[in-house]
Amino acid sequence: MARSDSTHQQAAERAFETDCAHFGEDAIVQGGGATPPIHQSSTFIYPNAEAFERRRTGDTPYPDYTRAGNPTTAILEAKLARLEKGAWARCFGSGMGAITAAINAVTHAGAHVVAVRQCYGPTYDYLTTYLERFGVETTFVNSCDPADFIAAIRDNTRLIYLESPTSGHFEVPAIEPITAAARRRKIVTIFDNSWATPYFQTPLEMGCDLIVHSATKYIGGHSDLVAGAVIGRDKRLCKRIMREAELLGATLDPFAAWLLIRGLRTLAVRMEHVQRSGLEIARMLEAHPKVLNVSHPGLESHPQHTLAKKQLRGYASLFSIRLREQSRQATYRFIDRLKLFQIGVSWGGHESLVVGGSLFSLDPADPDWIIRLYVGLESTADLIDDIEQALEG
Ligand code: PLP
Repeated sequence: MARSDSTHQQAAERAFETDCAHFGEDAIVQGGGATPPIHQSSTFIYPNAEAFERRRTGDTPYPDYTRAGNPTTAILEAKLARLEKGAWARCFGSGMGAITAAINAVTHAGAHVVAVRQCYGPTYDYLTTYLERFGVETTFVNSCDPADFIAAIRDNTRLIYLESPTSGHFEVPAIEPITAAARRRKIVTIFDNSWATPYFQTPLEMGCDLIVHSATKYIGGHSDLVAGAVIGRDKRLCKRIMREAELLGATLDPFAAWLLIRGLRTLAVRMEHVQRSGLEIARMLEAHPKVLNVSHPGLESHPQHTLAKKQLRGYASLFSIRLREQSRQATYRFIDRLKLFQIGVSWGGHESLVVGGSLFSLDPADPDWIIRLYVGLESTADLIDDIEQALEG
Protein backbone atom coordinates (compact mmCIF):
# COMPACT_ATOMS: atom_id res chain seq x y z
CA MET A 1 0.00 0.00 0.00
CA ALA A 2 1.18 3.55 -0.65
CA ARG A 3 2.75 5.41 2.22
CA SER A 4 0.62 7.96 4.01
CA ASP A 5 0.36 11.52 2.73
CA SER A 6 2.48 12.87 5.55
CA THR A 7 5.37 10.60 4.52
CA HIS A 8 5.16 12.05 1.00
CA GLN A 9 5.37 15.57 2.37
CA GLN A 10 8.47 14.69 4.39
CA ALA A 11 10.34 12.93 1.58
CA ALA A 12 13.57 14.67 0.52
CA GLU A 13 13.74 16.70 -2.70
CA ARG A 14 14.92 14.40 -5.46
CA ALA A 15 15.18 14.62 -9.24
CA PHE A 16 12.13 13.99 -11.43
CA GLU A 17 13.48 10.67 -12.74
CA THR A 18 14.22 9.44 -9.19
CA ASP A 19 10.69 10.25 -8.07
CA CYS A 20 9.32 8.43 -11.14
CA ALA A 21 11.37 5.39 -10.15
CA HIS A 22 10.73 5.29 -6.40
CA PHE A 23 8.40 7.88 -4.92
CA GLY A 24 5.36 6.50 -3.06
CA GLU A 25 6.66 2.93 -3.14
CA ASP A 26 8.04 0.76 -0.37
CA ALA A 27 9.61 -2.55 -1.40
CA ILE A 28 9.11 -3.96 2.12
CA VAL A 29 5.38 -3.18 2.09
CA GLN A 30 5.33 -4.53 -1.47
CA GLY A 31 6.42 -7.94 -0.13
CA GLY A 32 9.96 -7.37 -1.43
CA GLY A 33 8.78 -6.77 -4.99
CA ALA A 34 10.65 -4.19 -7.06
CA THR A 35 7.25 -3.30 -8.50
CA PRO A 36 4.01 -2.85 -6.56
CA PRO A 37 1.28 -5.47 -6.56
CA ILE A 38 -1.88 -4.94 -8.57
CA HIS A 39 -4.74 -4.77 -6.06
CA GLN A 40 -7.30 -6.07 -8.56
CA SER A 41 -10.07 -5.97 -5.98
CA SER A 42 -13.38 -4.11 -6.04
CA THR A 43 -13.92 -4.25 -2.28
CA PHE A 44 -11.77 -4.49 0.85
CA ILE A 45 -12.31 -6.64 3.93
CA TYR A 46 -12.28 -5.15 7.43
CA PRO A 47 -10.93 -6.94 10.54
CA ASN A 48 -13.86 -5.93 12.78
CA ALA A 49 -17.08 -3.90 12.92
CA GLU A 50 -15.45 -0.91 14.58
CA ALA A 51 -12.81 -0.59 11.83
CA PHE A 52 -15.62 -0.77 9.27
CA GLU A 53 -17.49 2.07 11.02
CA ARG A 54 -14.32 4.16 11.24
CA ARG A 55 -13.81 4.08 7.45
CA ARG A 56 -16.43 6.86 7.22
CA THR A 57 -14.27 9.26 9.18
CA GLY A 58 -11.23 8.41 7.08
CA ASP A 59 -9.52 7.33 10.31
CA THR A 60 -8.41 3.94 8.96
CA PRO A 61 -5.54 2.58 6.87
CA TYR A 62 -7.99 0.46 4.85
CA PRO A 63 -9.41 1.45 1.51
CA ASP A 64 -13.13 0.90 1.22
CA TYR A 65 -14.19 0.26 -2.35
CA THR A 66 -12.17 0.73 -5.55
CA ARG A 67 -14.53 3.38 -6.92
CA ALA A 68 -13.41 5.56 -4.00
CA GLY A 69 -9.76 4.45 -3.75
CA ASN A 70 -7.39 1.57 -4.36
CA PRO A 71 -3.87 0.87 -3.01
CA THR A 72 -2.27 0.43 -6.46
CA THR A 73 -3.94 3.60 -7.75
CA ALA A 74 -2.84 5.39 -4.55
CA ILE A 75 0.83 4.82 -5.48
CA LEU A 76 0.22 6.36 -8.90
CA GLU A 77 -1.64 9.27 -7.30
CA ALA A 78 1.23 9.89 -4.86
CA LYS A 79 3.71 9.99 -7.75
CA LEU A 80 1.58 12.30 -9.89
CA ALA A 81 1.01 14.72 -7.00
CA ARG A 82 4.75 14.80 -6.34
CA LEU A 83 5.73 15.31 -10.01
CA GLU A 84 3.21 18.14 -10.54
CA LYS A 85 4.32 19.84 -7.27
CA GLY A 86 0.85 19.26 -5.84
CA ALA A 87 -0.39 17.94 -2.49
CA TRP A 88 -2.86 15.36 -3.82
CA ALA A 89 -3.98 13.63 -7.02
CA ARG A 90 -7.04 11.63 -8.03
CA CYS A 91 -7.00 9.29 -11.01
CA PHE A 92 -9.88 8.66 -13.39
CA GLY A 93 -10.83 6.19 -16.08
CA SER A 94 -10.07 8.71 -18.85
CA GLY A 95 -8.82 12.23 -19.42
CA MET A 96 -12.41 13.33 -20.04
CA GLY A 97 -13.45 11.68 -16.75
CA ALA A 98 -10.85 13.88 -15.00
CA ILE A 99 -11.73 17.05 -16.95
CA THR A 100 -15.49 16.79 -16.41
CA ALA A 101 -15.02 16.00 -12.69
CA ALA A 102 -12.76 19.03 -12.26
CA ILE A 103 -15.16 21.34 -14.11
CA ASN A 104 -18.18 19.99 -12.19
CA ALA A 105 -16.38 20.43 -8.87
CA VAL A 106 -16.05 24.20 -9.33
CA THR A 107 -19.20 25.20 -11.24
CA HIS A 108 -22.92 25.35 -10.42
CA ALA A 109 -26.11 26.47 -12.13
CA GLY A 110 -25.81 30.16 -12.99
CA ALA A 111 -22.00 30.13 -13.00
CA HIS A 112 -19.91 31.54 -15.83
CA VAL A 113 -16.73 30.00 -17.25
CA VAL A 114 -13.94 31.62 -19.28
CA ALA A 115 -12.11 29.08 -21.45
CA VAL A 116 -9.37 29.01 -24.04
CA ARG A 117 -11.10 28.61 -27.43
CA GLN A 118 -8.69 26.03 -28.81
CA CYS A 119 -9.15 23.57 -25.97
CA TYR A 120 -9.50 19.83 -26.64
CA GLY A 121 -12.64 19.30 -28.79
CA PRO A 122 -14.70 17.20 -26.33
CA THR A 123 -13.85 19.69 -23.53
CA TYR A 124 -15.29 22.44 -25.77
CA ASP A 125 -18.37 20.27 -26.38
CA TYR A 126 -18.79 19.58 -22.66
CA LEU A 127 -18.66 23.29 -21.83
CA THR A 128 -21.10 24.21 -24.59
CA THR A 129 -23.63 21.55 -25.52
CA TYR A 130 -23.56 19.71 -22.18
CA LEU A 131 -23.05 22.25 -19.38
CA GLU A 132 -25.33 24.84 -20.99
CA ARG A 133 -28.20 22.45 -20.20
CA PHE A 134 -27.43 23.03 -16.51
CA GLY A 135 -27.29 26.83 -16.75
CA VAL A 136 -23.50 27.18 -16.96
CA GLU A 137 -22.40 29.64 -19.63
CA THR A 138 -18.90 29.77 -21.16
CA THR A 139 -17.09 32.62 -22.91
CA PHE A 140 -14.34 31.29 -25.19
CA VAL A 141 -11.24 33.42 -25.73
CA ASN A 142 -9.46 32.99 -29.05
CA SER A 143 -6.27 34.78 -28.07
CA CYS A 144 -2.96 34.39 -26.26
CA ASP A 145 -3.25 37.83 -24.66
CA PRO A 146 -4.05 37.61 -20.91
CA ALA A 147 -5.92 40.93 -21.16
CA ASP A 148 -8.54 39.19 -23.34
CA PHE A 149 -9.08 36.48 -20.69
CA ILE A 150 -9.32 39.07 -17.93
CA ALA A 151 -11.77 41.18 -19.98
CA ALA A 152 -14.04 38.12 -20.32
CA ILE A 153 -14.39 37.72 -16.52
CA ARG A 154 -17.84 38.52 -15.09
CA ASP A 155 -19.16 38.82 -11.53
CA ASN A 156 -20.42 35.22 -11.71
CA THR A 157 -17.23 33.74 -13.26
CA ARG A 158 -16.21 30.71 -11.20
CA LEU A 159 -13.69 29.03 -13.49
CA ILE A 160 -10.98 29.88 -16.01
CA TYR A 161 -10.13 26.81 -18.10
CA LEU A 162 -6.68 26.81 -19.71
CA GLU A 163 -4.62 24.68 -22.06
CA SER A 164 -1.12 25.58 -23.24
CA PRO A 165 0.01 24.85 -25.87
CA THR A 166 -3.53 24.77 -27.23
CA SER A 167 -5.00 21.78 -29.06
CA GLY A 168 -4.44 21.61 -32.81
CA HIS A 169 -3.01 25.14 -33.11
CA PHE A 170 -0.26 24.92 -30.43
CA GLU A 171 -0.48 28.55 -29.39
CA VAL A 172 0.88 29.57 -25.99
CA PRO A 173 -1.25 31.90 -23.82
CA ALA A 174 0.61 33.74 -21.03
CA ILE A 175 -0.50 31.93 -17.87
CA GLU A 176 0.76 33.88 -14.86
CA PRO A 177 -1.12 37.16 -15.48
CA ILE A 178 -4.33 35.13 -15.93
CA THR A 179 -3.90 33.10 -12.73
CA ALA A 180 -2.96 36.24 -10.77
CA ALA A 181 -6.18 37.96 -11.90
CA ALA A 182 -8.19 34.82 -11.13
CA ARG A 183 -6.76 34.56 -7.61
CA ARG A 184 -7.61 38.18 -6.81
CA ARG A 185 -11.24 37.37 -7.72
CA LYS A 186 -11.31 33.90 -6.08
CA ILE A 187 -11.84 32.24 -9.47
CA VAL A 188 -10.51 28.68 -9.82
CA THR A 189 -8.14 27.92 -12.73
CA ILE A 190 -7.92 24.48 -14.33
CA PHE A 191 -5.02 23.68 -16.65
CA ASP A 192 -4.81 20.72 -19.08
CA ASN A 193 -1.12 19.73 -18.92
CA SER A 194 -1.34 16.57 -21.07
CA TRP A 195 0.92 17.99 -23.82
CA ALA A 196 3.92 19.05 -21.74
CA THR A 197 3.59 16.55 -18.85
CA PRO A 198 5.12 17.62 -15.49
CA TYR A 199 8.53 16.85 -17.00
CA PHE A 200 8.35 20.00 -19.15
CA GLN A 201 5.79 22.18 -17.35
CA THR A 202 4.39 22.51 -13.80
CA PRO A 203 1.41 24.91 -13.98
CA LEU A 204 0.67 24.76 -10.21
CA GLU A 205 3.91 26.75 -9.94
CA MET A 206 2.40 29.31 -12.34
CA GLY A 207 -0.53 29.85 -9.97
CA CYS A 208 -3.05 27.34 -11.38
CA ASP A 209 -5.36 25.57 -8.91
CA LEU A 210 -6.08 22.25 -10.63
CA ILE A 211 -4.11 20.29 -13.22
CA VAL A 212 -5.91 17.81 -15.44
CA HIS A 213 -4.29 15.13 -17.57
CA SER A 214 -5.14 12.71 -20.25
CA ALA A 215 -2.78 10.08 -18.82
CA THR A 216 -3.67 8.08 -21.93
CA LYS A 217 -0.97 10.13 -23.68
CA TYR A 218 2.69 10.51 -22.62
CA ILE A 219 2.20 9.32 -19.01
CA GLY A 220 0.94 5.92 -20.20
CA GLY A 221 3.20 6.19 -23.21
CA HIS A 222 2.35 2.95 -25.03
CA SER A 223 -1.18 3.41 -26.48
CA ASP A 224 -2.47 0.54 -24.36
CA LEU A 225 -4.77 2.28 -21.85
CA VAL A 226 -7.15 5.20 -21.30
CA ALA A 227 -6.76 7.22 -18.08
CA GLY A 228 -6.92 10.66 -16.51
CA ALA A 229 -5.89 12.57 -13.40
CA VAL A 230 -6.69 15.74 -11.46
CA ILE A 231 -3.95 17.21 -9.26
CA GLY A 232 -4.07 20.12 -6.82
CA ARG A 233 -2.92 21.62 -3.54
CA ASP A 234 -6.03 23.05 -1.92
CA LYS A 235 -7.72 20.77 0.65
CA ARG A 236 -11.26 21.97 -0.08
CA LEU A 237 -10.83 21.37 -3.80
CA CYS A 238 -9.41 17.92 -2.95
CA LYS A 239 -12.59 17.03 -1.04
CA ARG A 240 -14.76 18.18 -3.93
CA ILE A 241 -12.75 16.20 -6.52
CA MET A 242 -12.85 13.04 -4.37
CA ARG A 243 -16.62 13.44 -4.13
CA GLU A 244 -17.00 13.91 -7.90
CA ALA A 245 -14.85 10.81 -8.45
CA GLU A 246 -16.90 8.70 -6.07
CA LEU A 247 -20.32 9.92 -7.24
CA LEU A 248 -19.71 10.03 -11.00
CA GLY A 249 -17.69 6.83 -10.92
CA ALA A 250 -15.24 7.37 -13.79
CA THR A 251 -12.87 5.07 -11.91
CA LEU A 252 -9.44 3.98 -13.08
CA ASP A 253 -8.95 0.23 -13.18
CA PRO A 254 -6.10 -0.94 -10.85
CA PHE A 255 -4.35 -2.75 -13.70
CA ALA A 256 -4.33 0.46 -15.76
CA ALA A 257 -2.95 2.25 -12.66
CA TRP A 258 -0.14 -0.31 -12.51
CA LEU A 259 0.63 0.20 -16.23
CA LEU A 260 0.74 3.96 -15.60
CA ILE A 261 3.24 3.49 -12.75
CA ARG A 262 5.36 1.54 -15.26
CA GLY A 263 4.88 4.26 -17.89
CA LEU A 264 6.06 6.95 -15.47
CA ARG A 265 9.38 5.13 -14.92
CA THR A 266 10.43 5.91 -18.52
CA LEU A 267 8.62 9.25 -18.94
CA ALA A 268 11.77 11.40 -18.72
CA VAL A 269 13.78 9.37 -21.27
CA ARG A 270 10.82 9.19 -23.65
CA MET A 271 10.20 12.95 -23.40
CA GLU A 272 13.88 13.69 -24.07
CA HIS A 273 13.81 11.45 -27.14
CA VAL A 274 10.56 12.81 -28.60
CA GLN A 275 11.64 16.39 -27.92
CA ARG A 276 14.81 15.91 -29.97
CA SER A 277 13.09 13.95 -32.73
CA GLY A 278 10.06 16.27 -32.88
CA LEU A 279 12.19 19.39 -33.17
CA GLU A 280 14.38 17.87 -35.88
CA ILE A 281 11.32 16.91 -37.91
CA ALA A 282 9.65 20.30 -37.31
CA ARG A 283 12.81 22.08 -38.58
CA MET A 284 12.98 19.85 -41.65
CA LEU A 285 9.32 20.60 -42.43
CA GLU A 286 9.79 24.33 -41.90
CA ALA A 287 12.56 24.39 -44.51
CA HIS A 288 10.54 22.39 -47.06
CA PRO A 289 9.21 24.38 -50.05
CA LYS A 290 5.84 22.57 -49.97
CA VAL A 291 5.15 23.56 -46.36
CA LEU A 292 3.53 26.90 -45.58
CA ASN A 293 4.11 26.89 -41.83
CA VAL A 294 4.83 24.71 -38.81
CA SER A 295 3.23 25.43 -35.44
CA HIS A 296 5.68 24.07 -32.88
CA PRO A 297 6.37 26.22 -29.78
CA GLY A 298 10.04 25.16 -29.83
CA LEU A 299 10.71 26.78 -33.22
CA GLU A 300 12.15 30.30 -33.23
CA SER A 301 9.47 31.19 -35.83
CA HIS A 302 6.62 30.39 -33.41
CA PRO A 303 4.82 33.66 -32.47
CA GLN A 304 5.07 32.92 -28.72
CA HIS A 305 8.47 31.20 -28.74
CA THR A 306 9.97 33.58 -26.14
CA LEU A 307 7.04 33.01 -23.79
CA ALA A 308 7.15 29.25 -24.45
CA LYS A 309 10.80 29.19 -23.36
CA LYS A 310 9.73 30.86 -20.10
CA GLN A 311 6.74 28.63 -19.35
CA LEU A 312 8.15 25.31 -20.56
CA ARG A 313 11.36 23.42 -19.76
CA GLY A 314 11.14 21.53 -23.06
CA TYR A 315 8.82 20.59 -25.92
CA ALA A 316 6.59 17.62 -26.59
CA SER A 317 6.37 16.09 -30.07
CA LEU A 318 2.81 16.92 -31.12
CA PHE A 319 2.53 19.85 -33.51
CA SER A 320 0.77 20.97 -36.65
CA ILE A 321 1.63 22.09 -40.16
CA ARG A 322 -0.12 23.72 -43.10
CA LEU A 323 0.86 22.80 -46.65
CA ARG A 324 1.48 25.60 -49.13
CA GLU A 325 -1.34 24.19 -51.25
CA GLN A 326 -4.34 24.82 -49.00
CA SER A 327 -6.92 22.35 -50.23
CA ARG A 328 -8.68 19.21 -49.08
CA GLN A 329 -7.11 17.28 -51.96
CA ALA A 330 -3.50 18.23 -51.17
CA THR A 331 -4.03 17.62 -47.43
CA TYR A 332 -5.56 14.16 -47.94
CA ARG A 333 -2.91 13.25 -50.53
CA PHE A 334 -0.06 14.02 -48.13
CA ILE A 335 -1.71 12.14 -45.25
CA ASP A 336 -2.54 9.14 -47.41
CA ARG A 337 1.02 8.91 -48.76
CA LEU A 338 2.56 8.70 -45.28
CA LYS A 339 3.45 5.14 -44.31
CA LEU A 340 5.15 5.27 -40.90
CA PHE A 341 2.88 8.04 -39.62
CA GLN A 342 -0.39 6.13 -39.33
CA ILE A 343 -3.77 7.87 -39.48
CA GLY A 344 -5.29 7.88 -36.02
CA VAL A 345 -6.37 10.04 -33.10
CA SER A 346 -4.55 10.25 -29.76
CA TRP A 347 -0.80 10.66 -29.28
CA GLY A 348 1.90 10.16 -26.65
CA GLY A 349 2.52 6.48 -27.44
CA HIS A 350 5.36 4.67 -29.22
CA GLU A 351 3.85 5.07 -32.70
CA SER A 352 3.84 8.18 -34.89
CA LEU A 353 0.38 9.37 -35.91
CA VAL A 354 -1.22 11.89 -38.22
CA VAL A 355 -4.69 13.45 -38.46
CA GLY A 356 -5.86 16.36 -40.53
CA GLY A 357 -8.39 17.94 -42.79
CA SER A 358 -10.94 20.34 -41.33
CA LEU A 359 -10.70 18.77 -37.82
CA PHE A 360 -9.04 21.76 -36.16
CA SER A 361 -10.89 24.51 -38.06
CA LEU A 362 -12.58 27.02 -35.82
CA ASP A 363 -14.92 28.00 -38.67
CA PRO A 364 -16.35 24.94 -40.50
CA ALA A 365 -17.60 27.21 -43.30
CA ASP A 366 -14.02 28.28 -44.03
CA PRO A 367 -11.86 25.22 -43.28
CA ASP A 368 -8.27 25.68 -42.28
CA TRP A 369 -6.31 22.68 -43.66
CA ILE A 370 -4.29 21.83 -40.59
CA ILE A 371 -2.35 18.56 -40.34
CA ARG A 372 -1.43 17.38 -36.84
CA LEU A 373 1.65 15.19 -36.56
CA TYR A 374 2.63 13.15 -33.52
CA VAL A 375 6.27 12.06 -33.54
CA GLY A 376 6.66 8.77 -31.68
CA LEU A 377 9.63 6.66 -30.70
CA GLU A 378 10.66 5.37 -34.14
CA SER A 379 13.99 6.43 -35.70
CA THR A 380 14.01 10.13 -36.62
CA ALA A 381 15.75 9.36 -39.94
CA ASP A 382 13.03 6.88 -40.93
CA LEU A 383 10.30 9.37 -40.05
CA ILE A 384 12.00 12.11 -42.08
CA ASP A 385 12.29 9.75 -45.07
CA ASP A 386 8.59 9.00 -44.73
CA ILE A 387 7.61 12.69 -44.71
CA GLU A 388 9.94 13.50 -47.62
CA GLN A 389 8.49 10.79 -49.84
CA ALA A 390 4.94 11.89 -48.93
CA LEU A 391 5.71 15.52 -49.81
CA GLU A 392 7.32 14.45 -53.11
CA GLY A 393 3.87 13.24 -54.13
N1 PLP B 1 -6.81 16.70 -23.24
C1 PLP B 1 -6.14 16.67 -24.40
C2 PLP B 1 -5.24 17.81 -24.73
C3 PLP B 1 -6.31 15.61 -25.29
O1 PLP B 1 -5.66 15.60 -26.47
C4 PLP B 1 -7.18 14.54 -24.94
C5 PLP B 1 -7.36 13.36 -25.82
O2 PLP B 1 -6.97 13.35 -26.96
C6 PLP B 1 -7.89 14.64 -23.74
C7 PLP B 1 -7.67 15.71 -22.90
C8 PLP B 1 -8.90 13.59 -23.34
O3 PLP B 1 -8.30 12.48 -22.80
P1 PLP B 1 -8.91 10.98 -22.88
O4 PLP B 1 -8.97 10.63 -24.32
O5 PLP B 1 -7.94 10.20 -22.07
O6 PLP B 1 -10.27 11.04 -22.27
